[in-house]
Amino acid sequence: MTSHVHPETSGSESALNSPVEIFSAEWILTVDQNDTVLTESAIAVQAGVIIAVGPLADLLRAHPSATHQHFDQSVLMPGMVNAHTHLGMTMFRGLADDRNLQQFLDLVMPAEAAVLREQSVSVATAAAALESVHAGVTTALDMYYFPDVVVAACDRVGMRVMTGTTFLGSVGPEGRGGSAQMEWTEQWLASNPARPGWRPVVAPHSTYLVSPEDLQLIAEIAQRHDATIHIHAAESKGELDSVLAQHGRRPVELLDHLGLLGPRTVLAHAVHLSDDELARVAATQTSVAHCPSSNLKLASGFARVPEMFAAGVAVGLGTDGPASSNDLDLFAAMRLTGLIHKAVTGDATVLPAAQVVRAATLGGAAALGLSESIGSLEVGKQADCICVDLSRVHTQPVYDPNSALVYAAGRDDVRHVWVAGQEVLRDGIATRVDEAEVTAGLNELRAEVLAAVASV
Ligand SMILES: [Zn+2]
Repeated sequence: MTSHVHPETSGSESALNSPVEIFSAEWILTVDQNDTVLTESAIAVQAGVIIAVGPLADLLRAHPSATHQHFDQSVLMPGMVNAHTHLGMTMFRGLADDRNLQQFLDLVMPAEAAVLREQSVSVATAAAALESVHAGVTTALDMYYFPDVVVAACDRVGMRVMTGTTFLGSVGPEGRGGSAQMEWTEQWLASNPARPGWRPVVAPHSTYLVSPEDLQLIAEIAQRHDATIHIHAAESKGELDSVLAQHGRRPVELLDHLGLLGPRTVLAHAVHLSDDELARVAATQTSVAHCPSSNLKLASGFARVPEMFAAGVAVGLGTDGPASSNDLDLFAAMRLTGLIHKAVTGDATVLPAAQVVRAATLGGAAALGLSESIGSLEVGKQADCICVDLSRVHTQPVYDPNSALVYAAGRDDVRHVWVAGQEVLRDGIATRVDEAEVTAGLNELRAEVLAAVASV
């Protein structure tokens, strides 16, 4: 992976000699522990790290030789964290809509088996990373295949990705299954060890595809390598019934029994939790990736998100794959999160805008075990930062920037994106890849996907 995405150079001599850049904006959403919103303020960045946050005049005085950019009527905020996705599924966008989860999987999984290889995953993942940075996403937790290819494709665009090996309970697109998959996972995790700003991932798909025996082995491997466990859990009622019938336990109950709950585990969806399961998720410090768009589209149900927050669960927001929710848009996820749970609970005061912004940024970072290095604009953290234009008619006037972001703004309002201080989106245009080429590459996969589906 290229060095700029995960630089750990702060404090070194070369870092201290690096130029300082100061960014100011009408509003700065720090997403610190008090959700502080600053005005007439700025952040200073050096060697990819935030070295100061405070009044603009003070920062200019402290760093007289720094460059300075001001963003009028705009908000600077932490880059968003997509806490559950399958980036490479951009190639299946719009292929299997208006189906339930089982019907969706019945069509998509055989198509995947036919089409997925390094080259197709590389093209589709680069397109996903490009779409993501346009939407202000600077980090994604991915569950897919060919992890080295995924890391390289995201690096090409400039987005952080946390990924690793995926278990399906059968031979996957990489041609491995059983003990070969376990051995490869050991090797992959050993050669991609955890460090600040990066955590390797092991992703057993779900309790309905992966056996309890394999889940236990995976938990042990993850523990040995301090890896994140990323798993779908309690997504649909159908899943609940089938896992209960097959194993005599509900999905999250089964994961708890097998030792897979814990602070390194991210449960994607967690829609159908019993009171006991919710309590165990909280007690074990297990994280949840809430994916409202996918849950609505697949008619999966409504996750108990306000209760999760009340119980202290780290909740991040995810889009799920672009085949099941069709985009990688965390602005959509924020708006849905801010709206759905008010209607479901009958309480318009639940999930206020600042809490939703926090879930999309620091909440996701915490779920991924990265809250020490990303997720808020605070001194010492990586400069993963986005600038959102609130000057346009659909966001004016602005009384509260959090409210404008959740209830009025959209991904097209994202103007600038920095990852570790590197500008990967400048004035709405990607700086590191040719956008037309990436988009054309994605479209070129269409014929192959159609041929694969025809034979399903
Ligand atoms: Zn998923």
